[in-house]
Amino acid sequence: MQIPKTHPRYESLMKREKIVEALDKGILAKAGLIAHGRGETFDYLIGEETTPIALEAIKAAAALLVLAENPVISVNGNTVALAIDEVVELAKELNGKIEVNLFYRTKERELAIKNVFKEKFKDDIEKGKIKILGIDDANKQIPNLDSLRGKVSEEGIYTADVVLVPLEDGDRAEALVNMGKKVIAIDLNPLSRTARKSTITIVDELTRALPLLIKYVRDFKNKDREELLKIVENFDNKKNLKKMIDYIADRLKKLELNEL
Ligand code: ATP
Ligand code: MG
Repeated sequence: MQIPKTHPRYESLMKREKIVEALDKGILAKAGLIAHGRGETFDYLIGEETTPIALEAIKAAAALLVLAENPVISVNGNTVALAIDEVVELAKELNGKIEVNLFYRTKERELAIKNVFKEKFKDDIEKGKIKILGIDDANKQIPNLDSLRGKVSEEGIYTADVVLVPLEDGDRAEALVNMGKKVIAIDLNPLSRTARKSTITIVDELTRALPLLIKYVRDFKNKDREELLKIVENFDNKKNLKKMIDYIADRLKKLELNEL
């Protein structure tokens, strides 16, 4: 479908197109459509822009990623469908590790995702700038998760100190935190279990948050460790989520009064 650029919901419709295309290509599970819809709803409530509250979380996440010894970016079908370029760009600023981790893991979908990376980023993979983990090497198990969802790569999530998990499931976020890892989630729903269980939750839309995260990671590489540690220590995830919920509530009240 051709969507005119002038359409007031152009950005949102384009994302839907990408999601549907990913379903057709076997990258996305059907349930991924529903997850996207839930995200859209919360984005509507937030006002479809990065809030100053989310920006605080983005800065804390960037500081944590720069301080990390072995960070890994975990990707699922939705993330690949919407933001594969940004994921690769961010991985290249870090140690290059990307791990495929699917809620509905099937060999077909794993391979479909691996192929997209291979087609688009052949050069980066061959030169070792990025590594796609979690498909041929997912032979470790996250404790207290059922076997398929808990399969991870030893070189990747299993030994990572910081895991960035855009659109994670609550159970897995919790299991990763219980393993002693720092978990950064990007999730539009400030009420989700993922949002509550993660170390740092960025309540923002994936494709808006990632470019900002990349910008701050680049920026923060020039700062000293002490300064970055302070940024991380001063961040309180519970407080940030509470501010986000207040933000939505205030916005709804203003809408009710026609102030927006
Ligand atoms: P939880 O298990 O954490 O309680 P959930 O079961 O409500 O979460 P899931 O279906 O596991 O939700 O995952 C979908 C989550 O991803 C939703 O919270 C949704 O808001 C979020 N989401 C979907 N699309 C995006 C997007 N493009 N950017 C950011 N978040 C998104
Ligand atoms: Mg869930």
